[in-house]
Amino acid sequence: MQEMPLQTKDCHKCGKSYSYRNSGNMIVFCPHCHHSDIVCCDFGFGPVTPCSIDLGDKRIAILDTEEVDRQIRYRLVSEEYGIDKYLESSYMEAIGEAGRIMSEKIDGI
Ligand SMILES: [Zn+2]
Repeated sequence: MQEMPLQTKDCHKCGKSYSYRNSGNMIVFCPHCHHSDIVCCDFGFGPVTPCSIDLGDKRIAILDTEEVDRQIRYRLVSEEYGIDKYLESSYMEAIGEAGRIMSEKIDGI
């Protein structure tokens, strides 16, 4: 994926500023309080994947789609947290499911 310049914003929840990369489809967790501060995707205009999942400016996971047995499956891969799994949900729900999984992992450390 193309590297985008760093941007800065204030977390909606804790108000602290952090940097992140805008990559179109993305979930960004605040590195301070771990709130999923940005959930952004091209919903309605195109595919919601690949969706990057970042902790501040650090890439921690990728959500992508794969065709398995003629079905589109959503696959969440995180080397950082040792995750490689197909999600139960699809489309927008898959984004939410991936967000919940990563949120638990981040808080578990
Ligand atoms: Zn925060």
